[in-house]
Amino acid sequence: MLKLLRYLKRKEWLFFLLSLVFIAAQVWLDLKLPDYMSEITKLVETEGSAMNDIWTAGGMMLLCSLGSLASSVAVCFLASNIAAGFSKRLRSAMYYKVQSFSKNEIGRFSTPSLITRSTNDVMQVQMLIVMSMQVVIKAPLMAIWAITKIAGKAWQWSLATGITVAILMALMALILALTFPRFRRVQWLQDGLNRSARENLTGIRVVRAFNAEKYQHDKFQKSNTELRNNQLFANRAMTFITPIMSLSMNLLSMSIYWIGAILINSVSLNGAEALAQRVDIFADMIVFMSYAMQMIMSFLMMAAVFVIAPRAFVAAGRINEVLDTEPSVKDGYGEPEEKDWVSMCLLDPDGSENAVIDLHGSTVFFGGDAVFTIRSEAASRQMIEFEHVSYRYPGGSGDVLSDISFKIARGQTVAIVGSTGSGKTTLVNLIPRFSDPTEGRILVDGTDVKNYTLKQLSEKISYASQKPLMFTGTVASNVAMGCSAEPERLEAALRIAQADEFVGSLPDGAASPVARGGVNFSGGQKQRLSIARALCRRSDILILDDSFSALDFKTDRALRNGLKHELGDTTVIIVAQRIGTIMGADKIIVLDDGRIAGIGKHRELLSDCEVYRQIALSQLSEEELAL
Ligand code: ADP
Repeated sequence: MLKLLRYLKRKEWLFFLLSLVFIAAQVWLDLKLPDYMSEITKLVETEGSAMNDIWTAGGMMLLCSLGSLASSVAVCFLASNIAAGFSKRLRSAMYYKVQSFSKNEIGRFSTPSLITRSTNDVMQVQMLIVMSMQVVIKAPLMAIWAITKIAGKAWQWSLATGITVAILMALMALILALTFPRFRRVQWLQDGLNRSARENLTGIRVVRAFNAEKYQHDKFQKSNTELRNNQLFANRAMTFITPIMSLSMNLLSMSIYWIGAILINSVSLNGAEALAQRVDIFADMIVFMSYAMQMIMSFLMMAAVFVIAPRAFVAAGRINEVLDTEPSVKDGYGEPEEKDWVSMCLLDPDGSENAVIDLHGSTVFFGGDAVFTIRSEAASRQMIEFEHVSYRYPGGSGDVLSDISFKIARGQTVAIVGSTGSGKTTLVNLIPRFSDPTEGRILVDGTDVKNYTLKQLSEKISYASQKPLMFTGTVASNVAMGCSAEPERLEAALRIAQADEFVGSLPDGAASPVARGGVNFSGGQKQRLSIARALCRRSDILILDDSFSALDFKTDRALRNGLKHELGDTTVIIVAQRIGTIMGADKIIVLDDGRIAGIGKHRELLSDCEVYRQIALSQLSEEELAL
């Protein structure tokens, strides 16, 4: 929890210090009340007291109460301000952190858990801050101040109060120890419940189609019941706090009166002196009683915090887990742009501005570290190069890709084929660094992908994923994502992706709305919009991961023709299942169980690669293949 406080700003620390002043004022005013009460008690017990004096003391009590109320409102205002600003910053920090995560980290935490952590967990911490500022600081201050005020009165009263406080503290520690692990589990179960609810909602059509409502309901109920049981246990334990507090308060008052009665009875003097002494003891008892009650009330207030503190501590731990996680895919130092390269060539050690030094192939050092190598013509000729790449999913038992090596020249169209699960998606995901290879390296335009900044790399690569993702907005906003939305560019992207016809037939054309998840479009339409989005960016490399699967054969062919004739020297990688889609590619890479089974053109592979031949034969007849 303390670790999270680094997200507080200077202004909030100032507010915190200011609230300390108000809290101190509030405690001082609250503890002033018993003094006036004692004065009134003495005035009432003393013969010949003036009514005016009682009114004055009463008036002061009223002023103290109003002052205490005003201070309490000020603390409340400051606490809410601090907590709201703090939690906004915490949510932003988590948002940016999660944005930097690769698939590995997101998979490790799981999406529902990341959502719970950024919303519910942050709210728990926010609530604790508000409560703490109002209570946690005030209560001990009040208790200590009250103790100093009552010290020196009869030791029997102090002893009774001491015993009560000790018992209360022990009980609170016990309850906290019992509930803390349960609250940890409650947060964890909350993630599970979110996951279950999400699955049910996103898959509602499948659930209904398969009459699996009962099965899903039972699964949901299992998580729900376990969550309820844990919450019940924790909350039941918490419900004991208030009755225990009330009981101790009542027992303590009884003891104070009882001890007071004994003390008054034990006065051995007679006459007026005895009366005066008894009045003094009685007034002391009233004052002691008020202070002791203030002290126990402080504990009672602390108990309210204890109800939420365990959950907030667990939540803070979970937030820290996210914030402390270092993304496994980190920015490189950045590949110099062409203009930097030229200016380096013009830098001459002798100071002559016109001298051009041939730096091709040399490695540039800054502070002893090799920073980058000036690309030679030969190196930059390959657009993509895999060098002995292997990949294993975190926690996986074996390599999903093993020793993959190939080269793709600029402007080539390369297809990747293989049976389901052979590693095609995993392979293409390594190029834009959704994950990094466990072994080997990948070069894009002659440079290790790890050396680019993620922004530079994403500008070089456009990607249409297997599952087209649509965002709430319009067709134009979905396609123009990440590129300038010039109408010509948008139109060209829609045309090449074979989406212009259906978009044109929409009532508002490209300005037509896209619902959440693109539910108002068919699978094939979403795929074409997703391809148009990738095309709109006009990057050097275009990766289409099984993006043709929902297209009919005619659209598939038209799209391939469009890509072939309109993309210039863009390097295209197509992951596809259909032989028809890929047989015209410049190069086909055949994957089999994470290994390369063959590389070549369609005809070469048909004769040389058995895996490819089997895939082709499963889709086309011998005659069609021969044609
Ligand atoms: P393809 O695209 O050829 O169908 P994938 O690259 O999606 O194959 O998957 C290759 C293998 O990696 C499969 O055996 C699959 O089970 C496994 N795999 C895919 N994603 C994950 C993941 N996130 N965690 C663990 N294993 C995975």
